[in-house]
Amino acid sequence: MVQSVKNIRAVGLLSGGLDSALAARLLIEQGIEVIGVHLESPTACRTEVREVARELGIRLEVRPKGEEYLRLLRHPRFGYGRNMNPCIDCRVFMFHLGRPYLEEYDARFLFTGEVLGQRPMSQTRASLDTIDRQSGLEGWIVRPLSARLLPETEPERRGWVDRRRLLAIFGRSRREQLALAERYGLRSYQSPGGGCLLTDPAFSHRLRDLFDHTEEHETSLADVELLRVGRHLRLSPELKIVLGRNADENRRLAGFESHGRWLVEPVDFSGPSALVCGAGGEEALRQAIDLIVRYARAATPERRVRWRNGDGFHYRTLGEPTGPAPAARPLAPAPAPDDDGALPITSRNAP
Ligand code: SF4
Repeated sequence: MVQSVKNIRAVGLLSGGLDSALAARLLIEQGIEVIGVHLESPTACRTEVREVARELGIRLEVRPKGEEYLRLLRHPRFGYGRNMNPCIDCRVFMFHLGRPYLEEYDARFLFTGEVLGQRPMSQTRASLDTIDRQSGLEGWIVRPLSARLLPETEPERRGWVDRRRLLAIFGRSRREQLALAERYGLRSYQSPGGGCLLTDPAFSHRLRDLFDHTEEHETSLADVELLRVGRHLRLSPELKIVLGRNADENRRLAGFESHGRWLVEPVDFSGPSALVCGAGGEEALRQAIDLIVRYARAATPERRVRWRNGDGFHYRTLGEPTGPAPAARPLAPAPAPDDDGALPITSRNAP
């Protein structure tokens, strides 16, 4: 662990990306003891944040954003960015969750890796002011990467942080950050541009569909987690079917079975599992089987699928008549099947 020489502690929101790691590094360099807080959510890409904290030599707290975050996603007070990213509300919420750690660790202020002008919605000067005001932490949030372009904060005014040793980075180019990473020997950070699925158009489309077809009080974090897996097909307002795109996704889909979600899976042939979400019954089963057949290899009429019902499995051979194929509407761009008939995962995460 890096030892403090000033006896000043600060709590930083650590995403696992480069900017927040550099912000921490700049403060550590001034002798400030840093505690990292990482907030987990099903809408975030998985990061190696523990490795980043280890590299920085700091203590790390990890906590979920929780169900409250879902409410925020549905009703952002300050609206969405280009996709379903409610960045201003999200930042305020994160400060709200990070604040209790100030008391817990007897820390003096919060800091982040935000860079002025890097993101069009949440990192303009006006947005940062709004975020500070709404979080009730005006003057107490230090942004080391852009600090010299921003008004002086209380920690700087009080001499806890040397403003002259903070930076004046502006805009979307990561050139300066990459050079600093090299200088500090930081390697574990997540690549720039990754991080938040809410900025991904395909994921946002799935999330909007979920919100449009599920009552607010019935929506759970597991529903959002499910949006990360498989190929989502909307068949009717009451019925969505999710197909696994490879063996790993087939396995993961099985973990989402619950009241209101049931899995139909191939028994003796290679093909996708189908998680039926919403309406149950014969018609949903027929549609699930038709989709499995459409994407399966060697789905000859004598092959079988099964599904759980009560305590045991029920079986059906594919040759039993099922009627015309359903008109499914994919909820994400459909990539071409690979040699295994499995569909590769596509996820683009732009900031
Ligand atoms: S990009 Fe995602 S995680 Fe970051 S502030 Fe916006 S909504 Fe929140």
